[in-house]
Amino acid sequence: MTNWDVLIVGAGQAGCAAAWDLAAAGLRVAVISRPPSRGKPCAGGVTEKAVARYRFSISPVVREAVTSLAVSHSSSPVRHLSSATPFCVMTERAELDAFCRCQAEAQGAVFHETAGLTGLEQRADCVRIETREGAVFSAPWLIAADGANSAVARLLGERHPAGAMAIEGCVPRESVRDYPPMTLDFGVIRGGYGWLFPKGDHVNVGLYVWRHGAAAPQRSALQRYCQARLGAEAKHVAGYPLGTWLPHTRLANGRVLFVGDAAGCTEVLLGEGIYGAVLSGQLAAQAILGERPDVFYPRALAGWREELQQVSRLGALFYGLLPVSSRLLQGRLGGTLVNGFAQGLTLGQCKRQWRGAQSLKV
Ligand SMILES: Cc1cc2nc3c(=O)[nH]c(=O)nc-3n(C[C@H](O)[C@H](O)[C@H](O)COP(=O)(O)OP(=O)(O)OC[C@H]3O[C@@H](n4cnc5c(N)ncnc54)[C@H](O)[C@@H]3O)c2cc1C
Repeated sequence: MTNWDVLIVGAGQAGCAAAWDLAAAGLRVAVISRPPSRGKPCAGGVTEKAVARYRFSISPVVREAVTSLAVSHSSSPVRHLSSATPFCVMTERAELDAFCRCQAEAQGAVFHETAGLTGLEQRADCVRIETREGAVFSAPWLIAADGANSAVARLLGERHPAGAMAIEGCVPRESVRDYPPMTLDFGVIRGGYGWLFPKGDHVNVGLYVWRHGAAAPQRSALQRYCQARLGAEAKHVAGYPLGTWLPHTRLANGRVLFVGDAAGCTEVLLGEGIYGAVLSGQLAAQAILGERPDVFYPRALAGWREELQQVSRLGALFYGLLPVSSRLLQGRLGGTLVNGFAQGLTLGQCKRQWRGAQSLKV
């Protein structure tokens, strides 16, 4: 058994962000994760604010830079919102994860593959985990970056409310009737939207539901949506929950810090989670490099928690008032969002900008 300074469970966006910062600071970091072949479903849209958070350029894995968003609601025509500079880039999630892992490895982080965890024990001075293969890892701190179905949370008996849910698939470009711009279609599923994300050689297609249980994004519904919008059948269909519970859960349990979807850092209105994953991974790493990470990490993430609380209220209002709210999104509100995103603003910052512009008009 090697002793490490920090263990990270999960090599997604949160885990790799934390690993990069900790390894760059000279700590001995072990990242224990499932093999990349068991990659999780994700549409790979990375907004400008997330792009700006990486410690390195992600341009080698960018497939398209997006300056135009089509927004529709079944009862109204499609509106095209655009920005002068990209507000989002399209990546293929497996490629993005592999690239971020390479960056963290180059800093000195060591990655180990496992089929899963069988045990976790907190001691006075360290955390110990055991994998299904019988390997044991120990370190003073553990970062749980193992996603919305976090095994670390389960082993610690942590509970959280139901989050959002999404299902996705892909259609090769040659099978698509018309290659679409980035598209959000409201009204195709209750309490959510359908999306089309163009990726060069294929289109990623999916359904999002802001509160799991409000509706179920099922395979049959995805295939109907896909046929209607692209004239083809989606392949490699898979669904996964999104961690949207940060406002209601704690971020530290003893020597374990939760980050990314394991901490519920995804915003619930549109289900953007990569930004919250990178942000929380970096903040947890910074806290570990200082004193009392269990105290200072939750404090460092308090601003994001507050923002997600506000977005959660906005989400309830937005999906409760469809189709009125989607018409707002198709108009000035959507323009503010797209341009705010292009400037690297968060949803909350865009909302404040929009409110400011509205109050100037009265
Ligand atoms: C269908 C879908 C589409 C989405 N599209 C977007 C999008 O376009 N843009 C966006 O910003 N967000 C999107 N999201 C949300 C985004 O994918 C997540 O918020 C983000 O991936 C969270 O990153 P993470 O690193 O916290 O967790 P994850 O990406 O879930 O990574 C968890 C890591 O832990 C590993 N792991 C899991 N369990 C174990 C275990 N027991 N032992 C060891 N390792 C384990 C996994 O293999 C993985 O490496 C989407 C989500 C879904 C479901």
